[in-house]
Amino acid sequence: MSDVDRPWQITQTTGVEPGATTGGDAALARLPEREEVLDHLVIVEHFVDDATCDQLVESHRRFGRLDATSDNALGLGSLRHLDPAGFDRARSVLARMEALIRSRFREAVGHDHAVLCALTAGGFQHVLHADNAIVICPQHGSQPEQLVHAGCSCTDIRVAPNHTPWRTHSALLYLSDAHTGGHIVFGEGPNVYGRIYRKELAPVHGLLVLFPSNELYFHHTTVVESGVRYSMNCWFTTDPDHMSSFA
Ligand SMILES: [Zn+2]
Repeated sequence: MSDVDRPWQITQTTGVEPGATTGGDAALARLPEREEVLDHLVIVEHFVDDATCDQLVESHRRFGRLDATSDNALGLGSLRHLDPAGFDRARSVLARMEALIRSRFREAVGHDHAVLCALTAGGFQHVLHADNAIVICPQHGSQPEQLVHAGCSCTDIRVAPNHTPWRTHSALLYLSDAHTGGHIVFGEGPNVYGRIYRKELAPVHGLLVLFPSNELYFHHTTVVESGVRYSMNCWFTTDPDHMSSFA
């Protein structure tokens, strides 16, 4: 089989057994190559057109909140009756994301959760995290920022499922340019996960960032300096029990 026929199945956690010695240079050597990790960080400019971006932002403006203390997530399910046209628009975007995951990762997924988000200037930031896994160090704990701050390079870390281990793919679709800051940064994760690659992206409208939900894709956002940063954040799963029908 060619590499194309045998895609790298990195969407679950890398399956490290509890207690296994996984940190340090030995673990780094066992991780995928930088190019391979970056190849699965899918970046698509103009995934949706300008009108769709504007209309999705408008749905949040009408029905969402703009608090400084949260990402003001507006669940798409809540739009079903409030804003049927906006709901249908978002659903069609979700369907296109699922099709892209099928073609790019060869995995049949459904969406688990999808929200429209708005980050305000000087307000809430998404702190360093991965979407389906945590890294635990016996000495430095399991808070990713604390592990980074402590310079954890311990060799006895382990990877464990987080509170949403069924998520396999994550998609961030950016909807507006009327802000500065609010970049998304990958590859500054804890221990070996901060040593493979680094990728910082400035959100612009229509930009899609799609990636496996696991520990190879730790990410965080930088502070929004001005304006409001709108996005549609979506998570997908191969587990039928966790697929949403917005029922
Ligand atoms: Zn440590």
